[in-house]
Amino acid sequence: MKNVIAIDGPAASGKSTLALRLAKDFDFLFFDTGVMYRAVTLAALNAGVAIDDEDACVALAQSAVIEVQPPSEDDGRTSDVIVNGEDQTWAIRRPDVEGNVSVISTYAGVREALTEQQRRIGSRGDIVMVGRDIGTVVMPDADLKIYLDASVEERALRRYLEEKCRGDDAEYEVILEAMRKRDQIDSTREVAPLIAAEDAIVVDSDNKDANEIFEEVKELIIKHLELDQKQS
Ligand code: C5P
Repeated sequence: MKNVIAIDGPAASGKSTLALRLAKDFDFLFFDTGVMYRAVTLAALNAGVAIDDEDACVALAQSAVIEVQPPSEDDGRTSDVIVNGEDQTWAIRRPDVEGNVSVISTYAGVREALTEQQRRIGSRGDIVMVGRDIGTVVMPDADLKIYLDASVEERALRRYLEEKCRGDDAEYEVILEAMRKRDQIDSTREVAPLIAAEDAIVVDSDNKDANEIFEEVKELIIKHLELDQKQS
């Protein structure tokens, strides 16, 4: 396996924006693993499965066919997310999915099913993987592990501005509260909690713009990976 970059961190820390740019720059695959947890959550909501019914959610995670592919449309999407044959790229961003995804992500059986698929994709190499447990669980041998952090206030503000830009009816306080709750569940769950791997490099994105972070991490990649001269 060669050239695996793991980028973990809390919601809206800028992981996807960073990873996408890095993937383009190094001609690597971009893979946001969060979409898989969102896809299972959406499948549960659509099937009328109660979110607290762990066995039923695990069964869904085991049977759902989730395909993550390069974007087929130029509508702001970073990948196509196909769930059981249907394009659910935007549906997985719905507030009801956002509000339930952290609970589904605590179930060991759900994580096992999704981790296995993520590992299979990751082990092809030349990939930037984004999530909460890439450096700790999914790809513990990644060549470079970044833990991208930012204060919850800053992250809620970013999410608020994103939603406003899309024309959504966003309220900062509501977003802040939901984000605090998601952080709390993600970082205190028993299986694969959100935590920086011991060998991760922690990058704090407060008071830094996306360009600065990109340049900082790009330098780290060049330093840590044995890339062809043309790529560096
Ligand atoms: O990154 P994103 O906000 O799309 O992730 C949605 C949720 O999926 C997270 O809040 C977390 O509960 C879960 N997740 C996870 N492990 C990952 C990626 C996401 O538990 N590797």
